Amino acid sequence: MKISIIGTGYVGLVTGLSLANLGHQVSCVDIDKNKVSQINSGTPPFFEPGVAEMLTKIIKQKKLLATDNLEKSVKDSEIVIVAVGTPTTNNKIDLSIIKKASEQIGNALEESSDYKVITVKSTVLPGTTAEIIKPTLEKYSKKTAGKDFGLCMNPEFLREGNALEDAMNPDRIVIGQLDEKSGQEFAKIYSKLSSPKIFTNLWTAELIKYTSNSLFATLISFANEISRIAEAIGKVDVLDVWKGVHLDKRLNPIVEGKRINPAFLSYLLSGCGFGGSCFPKDIQALATFASEHNTDASLIKSVININDTQPGRVVSHLQKALVNLKGKKIAVLGLAFKPETDDTRESPALPIVKQLTLEGAEVVGHDPMAKVADIIQVDTIKEALGDADAAVVVTSWKEYRDLTPDIFKQYMKQPILIDARRIYDKRVFSKAGITYKGIGLA
Ligand code: NAD
Repeated sequence: MKISIIGTGYVGLVTGLSLANLGHQVSCVDIDKNKVSQINSGTPPFFEPGVAEMLTKIIKQKKLLATDNLEKSVKDSEIVIVAVGTPTTNNKIDLSIIKKASEQIGNALEESSDYKVITVKSTVLPGTTAEIIKPTLEKYSKKTAGKDFGLCMNPEFLREGNALEDAMNPDRIVIGQLDEKSGQEFAKIYSKLSSPKIFTNLWTAELIKYTSNSLFATLISFANEISRIAEAIGKVDVLDVWKGVHLDKRLNPIVEGKRINPAFLSYLLSGCGFGGSCFPKDIQALATFASEHNTDASLIKSVININDTQPGRVVSHLQKALVNLKGKKIAVLGLAFKPETDDTRESPALPIVKQLTLEGAEVVGHDPMAKVADIIQVDTIKEALGDADAAVVVTSWKEYRDLTPDIFKQYMKQPILIDARRIYDKRVFSKAGITYKGIGLA
C-alpha cells in the first residue's frame, strides 16, 4: 500500500522503516529539511539500534523516500499516519503541532478524490481524535469523515532503545476506529503481522496508551518509594527486597521448572527515576486531563511527585559522602534517559547535573551516545573519572556495567561511587575498597 507518514522523529521513521520492510511504499514527511535530506542519504537523524542498517537497506530497495512536500505525499497515499510531537507545556498537552499538521492534511484531502484513511499515531488524550482532529480535517478538506475519508487512532508502544524490533514485532496492535470501514482499511497495512489486533472506539485506543505508560511509571515510582523507606531503616538494601518480591510466583511464574522473569519486573527496581520523551509528559498530561474531568488522579500525581524528587536523592547521597560539594569534581556517567538511546529528553541526569552545579560542584559528564549542550562532556570514561572526587552512574549502559572496581580506584582522586541504577555488586565493590553508595542503601 502507499503510506504517508507525517513527522519523521523516532516514531515516524521507525514506523516507516517497519512498514517499508513489510513491502509497503512509504513516504516520510517532515518540515525539517535537514532530517529529510539525512534520511534520503541513508543517515538516521538519531541513534537507535538497527535503524541505520535498516535505512540503508530500505533506501536501496527504494521503498522509502523522505520529503517536505506534505501535500503531494498525502495526495499520493492510501493511508496517512500522523506521528508528529505532542509535547506537554505548562502541565497540559500541547496540540498546536498536531492541529497544524491536521490542517495541512485537510487541505491536501480537499483536492483528493479517492478514499484515504487518516490515522493518528501520536499520543493524544481521549477525545482528541474525534473532537479536535476530525473537525479540523473536515473543516480544511470540506469533506466528511466516515464518508469521504476514514479516521483511526493507532497508538504506538515502541520503546526507545528497542524501537525497530518493537515496531517490527508489535505485541499488540490497537486500532481505534471511527467506523468499521476505517478500521478494516487501515488494518490492511498490518495484514502480514500475526500480532493480536484490538479494534476499539477512538477514545478507548487513546486511553489504552496513557494507561500503559502510567502503569509502568507507577511501578517505577513505587519501587523508588520503597527505596526511600529502605534508606530510612538503614539496615536494608532495597535490592534484597526486590529479589524477595520478584520471586513471588504471581509476578514471576515458574514454567516447565524455570522462572520466566517477565520484562515488567525491570520496572519494579529502584533507581533515580524515569525520563524520556513519553512517561513524564504523558502522565502529567493525563493528571491534568483527569482534573479537568473532575477526577482527582491522586495516585498519578504521587507518581509524578516521587519521580520529580528522586534525582535530588542522588544529590543527597553525594552530599552525605562528600559533606561539601563546592569545588568537587563529580563524574556523571550517563546522560541519556536509558541505555541504547541518545535521547536525553527529561533524563534524570539533567536535574542531577543542574543541582550539582548549583551546589558549586565541577561536573564532568560522559555518555557513549548522547550529547547535551551546556554540560561539559568528555569522550572516555577514564577522562570523566580522572581525578574525580566522586562518580555517579545515572544510565545503565553496558559500558558502565562492565566497569570493575579497579578502574574507579585507578583514576579517581577518591573512589566514592553513587550507583543510582544499582548495577554493581555492593559486596564486591565495597570489598575492593570503593566507598559504595546507592539508591535504596543507607
Ligand atoms: P519527535 O519530536 O522526535 O518527532 C516529530 C517530528 O515531527 C519532528 O521531526 C518534526 O519536525 C515533525 N513535524 C512537526 N510538525 C510537522 C508537520 N506539520 N509536518 C511534518 N512533520 C512535522 O517525536 P517522537 O518522539 O517521534 O514522537 C511522536 C509522537 O509519538 C508523540 O506524540 C509521542 O508522544 C508519541 N510516541 C513516542 C514514542 C517514543 O518513544 N519517542 C513512543 C510512543 C509514542
